[in-house]
Amino acid sequence: MVAAIEIHQLYKCYGAFSALENINLSIHPGEFFALLGPNGAGKTTLISILAGLTLATSGHAKIMGHDVVSDYVNARKNLGVVPQELVFDPFFTVREALIIQSGYYGIRKNDAWIDEILHRLDLTDKADTNMRALSGGMKRRVLVAQALVHKPPVIILDEPTAGVDVELRQALWFFINQLNREGHTIVLTTHYLEEAEALCNRAAMLKQGKIVALDSIRSLINGIQGFSIQLRLS
Ligand code: ATP
Repeated sequence: MVAAIEIHQLYKCYGAFSALENINLSIHPGEFFALLGPNGAGKTTLISILAGLTLATSGHAKIMGHDVVSDYVNARKNLGVVPQELVFDPFFTVREALIIQSGYYGIRKNDAWIDEILHRLDLTDKADTNMRALSGGMKRRVLVAQALVHKPPVIILDEPTAGVDVELRQALWFFINQLNREGHTIVLTTHYLEEAEALCNRAAMLKQGKIVALDSIRSLINGIQGFSIQLRLS
């Protein structure tokens, strides 16, 4: 069976600094996987390489068997990414933002699917609102919606619940779990370990650019002294 994400001997250097060092990882289709680690561990850099936005210094990564560099178009079709930063064009409405995102993947405007995504993320009422008029929590939901327009089998979410209130955090966790139950492979970074623990099958712990542990979140917390305190402080 082809892996959802396959990473082989991946390195990323900025000058003499190693942001990622010899990353090897295989994530299976249907897994709910957490990428953990303190600030600066290399999580966002790894996600950026998988999304084809940053070039690795050496090594390979594949999404559903498609190399993220040499077969970028197919790799990207199979991947939805929810970035950490809330970056939008403020003058588009929510619906327009989703239509434009669809265009990036060369897919035709699909009103029924966009309506369904809006409905599932409780954004229907905001469909014709300009992005600049949305709260941070609403924008976070739009980021999730944008990642789904091309129905990708693999979804990566970089701190999807950062900076949102408890109610929305729970709603987002519920929604992400639903996506996983529907068959999507989920990879996420988070600092909310208790919530992630309830859902994730496995987790990798990144530290200074290296995978230092690969196990269940509970085992990682138990196995590394000070781990959870360190994460909360980061
Ligand atoms: P956080 O939890 O804060 O988001 P992270 O685990 O996502 O952290 P990265 O953003 O991937 O960490 O950063 C990993 C390291 O690489 C950091 O030390 C960062 O300063 C460095 N880094 C990232 N991008 C660049 C760049 N363009 N040039 C130089 N160094 C960089």
